[in-house]
Amino acid sequence: MKYLIIGTAGHVDHGKSALIKALTGTETDRLKEEKERGISIDLGFALLPLAEDIMAGIVDVPGHERFLKNMLAGTGGMDLVMLVIAADEGVMPQTREHLAMLSLYGVKRGVIVINKIDKVDAEWLELVEAEVKELLAGTFLETAPSCRVSAFSGEGVEELKDVLLAQARLAGVRDSKAPFRLWIDRVFSIKGHGAVVTGSLLSGEATVGDLLRLDPVGAQVRVRGVEWHGKKVERVVAGQRAAINIVGVESEALARGMVLSAEHVGEVGAVWDVRLEWREEVDSGSRIRLHIGTGEYIGRLYRFKDRPAEVGRLVLEEEVAAAPGDRGIIRQYSPQYLLAGVTMLRPGARRTPPKESRVRLGEALTGKDEKEFLSALLADADEPLNKTEVLSLAGYRAPKPLLDALAALLEAEEITSLESGYVRAAWLNEKEEKLKAALEVFHAEEPERSGISKEALRQRLHLAEKTFECLVRRFVAAGWLKALGGDLALTEHAERHARWERELIAKAQEILEKIGLEDVQEDWLQKQLNIPEERRKVVWATLVRQGVLIRMGGIHVYSKTIQNIVTVIQEHFQRHATLSVSELRDLINTSRKYAMPILEYLDMNKYTKREGDTRTCGAKLKDLSE
Ligand code: GDP
Repeated sequence: MKYLIIGTAGHVDHGKSALIKALTGTETDRLKEEKERGISIDLGFALLPLAEDIMAGIVDVPGHERFLKNMLAGTGGMDLVMLVIAADEGVMPQTREHLAMLSLYGVKRGVIVINKIDKVDAEWLELVEAEVKELLAGTFLETAPSCRVSAFSGEGVEELKDVLLAQARLAGVRDSKAPFRLWIDRVFSIKGHGAVVTGSLLSGEATVGDLLRLDPVGAQVRVRGVEWHGKKVERVVAGQRAAINIVGVESEALARGMVLSAEHVGEVGAVWDVRLEWREEVDSGSRIRLHIGTGEYIGRLYRFKDRPAEVGRLVLEEEVAAAPGDRGIIRQYSPQYLLAGVTMLRPGARRTPPKESRVRLGEALTGKDEKEFLSALLADADEPLNKTEVLSLAGYRAPKPLLDALAALLEAEEITSLESGYVRAAWLNEKEEKLKAALEVFHAEEPERSGISKEALRQRLHLAEKTFECLVRRFVAAGWLKALGGDLALTEHAERHARWERELIAKAQEILEKIGLEDVQEDWLQKQLNIPEERRKVVWATLVRQGVLIRMGGIHVYSKTIQNIVTVIQEHFQRHATLSVSELRDLINTSRKYAMPILEYLDMNKYTKREGDTRTCGAKLKDLSE
């Protein structure tokens, strides 16, 4: 069975409800009565079996403001629209506005219904039809079939059904395999059952027991029961309108405009980058209403000088759950008129303009090319995305063609995997080049430093931590990058630097061998090594870091000298239990200036152990002696 949703549009009182009644026998305009009874679930909705294998549901939306709210609620899911025009009045302002909204919303297929033909003569009818033809020129309904009908007398209604059937056969089948998503249009609380929500299943399916996510709340809910057209069923599928009994959230927490979706579909944010299709341009910062799904949100629309006119940003007063590619419209806050159609891209940052990559993403989202979409999505993400993330960001797109495109791009090596995620090969090359260039600059600026700290490099490249770590692991494995503790260096530099250090140390040792226990001075060593003034500090720091010079108290002593002292003390403890300051002075033939810092150093390193004024053999020395 193919299920599809037919919507109606047209000026108020042109006979939309009457037409639905004529087509289906269902009185849909019974809001007041149903409100009084409190629990009716199929409000404004009538079933129209078009053929044995095609079942249409017609959403009726009487009244203009209600039309806007309800139509928009159904429009994302409208497979076919009936644009109703009363023959006696002809094209009216709302006819025009609805037509504009339908096309901005991306509705693709429709039927023109000239209603109330019982009220006019043939000549008048032709005039109206000419007017309609003019209206539709250049729109998605330009070539749509047109029917002359009287909902009142029933004339033309059977022919209209035939036309609807032909169009229904042409309309694509809604994808039950794509992720489930339903924009909630109404919420009930039914005694003993809890919360019941209604809406049109735009894609996917729901079965009793399924776990779904409620956004923007972010709660997990379970499907306890499903109803389709007033009957309990096991399962509802895309193209049907359903009532779903959910548990896991209080009905007070539910509201129209929220989204029930399969796990991992879409994102939530109050700031969204959008692609705009202008009908009437407004200045940046204008107050607007966004209609998306079944919700209406108030906020501001921002535009950016150095971005194309079709890219903008919505800053809304509350969070909206949407997926890239979702269509909506924006109207001026007051007075309310249509400004533009929007395609949601991805949540944006408040301060900076939308990234350049959003322009391409916007174009890809309105197209059907899965490869281009994936490529644009990855380019925009600027980080590896794993399969789950790709599917989540794909929103309504069916998973199979998307995953096929992913496999094809991997095969063609346009996309490559980076640990558990995917990136564009070009992106990876670009990061590699940038990382190399940044390191080259750093090494040239500070040749004596073995490497740059990881964090400093990450910040220079403006990369997210997780992404940066992934890249580092990848490039270290590739061999050209070297991790030295918390620092990073080009392997080539690291080797050159290690060589330089070895040579420096050897040369310094040669010089220091010639002196005994002395406080080594920086400028003295500089002269001995014959190095220019500007390199003095680096060389000194390297020798201290490498342990050639040992700093104790305020003095610096050559490490071998200390080793010799340790040996002398070791021998001393073989014959004596204790060591006093004067004994040490005699042993190493030095003054108090050196003896005190040396003792402190020996204590600290557990060669000696301080007991009052004397020292005993320290733990480390004992270990050495064994
Ligand atoms: P809606 O606001 O577009 O849903 O319009 P309704 O279905 O409520 O119809 C508005 C008015 O037009 C009602 O009084 C209907 O009885 C009347 N009407 C609807 N269709 C026809 C028709 O084909 N012929 C005539 N003469 N009146 C009609």
